[in-house]
Amino acid sequence: MKILQRAVTVIGLSADKKGRNSSIRREMLNNKACTGSLTILVATAALALSSAAFGSSSALLHASLQTDVSPQPSSKQTNHVKSESTNATSMACGNVSVQVLGSGGPELDDGRTSSAYLVWVNNRARVLVDAGSGSSVQFGAAGASFETLDVILLSHLHTDHSADLPSFVKGGYFTNREKNLWVMGPDGNGTMPSTNAYVTSLIGEEGAFKYLSSYTINGKDDYTISTKSVASATLKKPFEYAVNNDISVQAMSVNHGPIPTLAWKVKANGCEVVFSGDTNDKEGNLSRFAKNVDLLVLHNAINDNAGRVAKNLHMTPTQIIDIAEQSKAKRIVLSHIMKRSESGLDALTEAITVVAEARVYAAQELMNIELLDDN
Ligand SMILES: [Zn+2]
Repeated sequence: MKILQRAVTVIGLSADKKGRNSSIRREMLNNKACTGSLTILVATAALALSSAAFGSSSALLHASLQTDVSPQPSSKQTNHVKSESTNATSMACGNVSVQVLGSGGPELDDGRTSSAYLVWVNNRARVLVDAGSGSSVQFGAAGASFETLDVILLSHLHTDHSADLPSFVKGGYFTNREKNLWVMGPDGNGTMPSTNAYVTSLIGEEGAFKYLSSYTINGKDDYTISTKSVASATLKKPFEYAVNNDISVQAMSVNHGPIPTLAWKVKANGCEVVFSGDTNDKEGNLSRFAKNVDLLVLHNAINDNAGRVAKNLHMTPTQIIDIAEQSKAKRIVLSHIMKRSESGLDALTEAITVVAEARVYAAQELMNIELLDDN
C-alpha cells in the first residue's frame, strides 16, 4: 500500500546565550524550574506513537500534529540529484534534512521506535543511520522510498539499532529497487559479530532468512547488498568513503563498553551531520569529530545518577552539555530517549541552549529538521 509522503517539519529558535560556567549547567540540570529567562522553542511533533500504533497507515494519515506539516515533494518531482555537490565542503548547506524515524532505545513501553534516522538529500531518502526495531515501519510513514536509499549505516549491532535490517530487505522486494545497497557498520569482537557476519547470519546463504540471500549474491537479483565492517577508525584517521557524487561518509570508533560502535558523519550538499551512536565518549573525541557540523545527534540514554554499568555504555547529561558546547554544532538533537532520561530532558535541553550556540531539539517520532545555512 502506498502511503502518502509526509514529514513533520520543525523550526527551532536560538535562545539568548548567557552563562557559560559549569555551575549553571549543574544548577539547570538539578532544577527544572529554571526556565523563565530563556526563550526556547523546541517544536516537537506530538506523534510519539509506539510501533504497535503503526499497523495502520490510515492511523498515521489521520494523526494530529502540533507542528507545521509540510509534505515532502515526491521523489519523482525532484530530478536534480546528481553531481550537485562534487565539492561538498565549499558549498553552502542546503536541501538536506534529517528525520528521526526512531527516538527511543530498546524499551517496550516508551511509545518510541528504536534508534533510526533518515538523511534526505534533495527530497530523496538517501542515507539510513541505524535500523532499530520499528524503523522499517517508520520509514514508510515518513514517505521514504527504498529505491532511492544509497547506504545503511549501523552505529552498532545492539537490537535497538539493527534489528529491522531484514525487514527493510524483505520490504524492498515490493519496490522497484535496482541500484546496489551498502550496509556499513562496525567490525566485531568476542562479544559481537562484525557487520559482515551479522548480515551473513541473517540473509546469507546459510542465514536465518536465507530466502533473502539472493540479494547478497552479485547479479542474482535486482540489486546486490554489499557490506563493510569498519575497524579501528580514529579521529585522526577516520574511515572515509565516497558513496557517490552526492554523499560521502566518515566513521570514528567510539566507546560503548564492550560493544564495537561507530559515530557516523554524513556529508551531502555542503551539509555535515554527525550521529553519536551509543557511547560514553570515553576518548573525549566526539566534539572534535563533530566540530562545526550542521547537526549533531546525541544519545541521551541515562541520567547523571546512573550506575557504573550504564555510565560505561552511555554519556551522562553533563557530558552531553560539554560535547554540545565544545562541538559548536549548529543544531543539537537529543535522542535515544529512555524512561530513565526522559524526566531530565527539558532541563537538559535548556541547559544546552544556555551554553551552546546551537538550536536544540528533543527528538520525537518523524521530526524532520531541515538544514539551511541561515545562521
Ligand atoms: Zn547500544
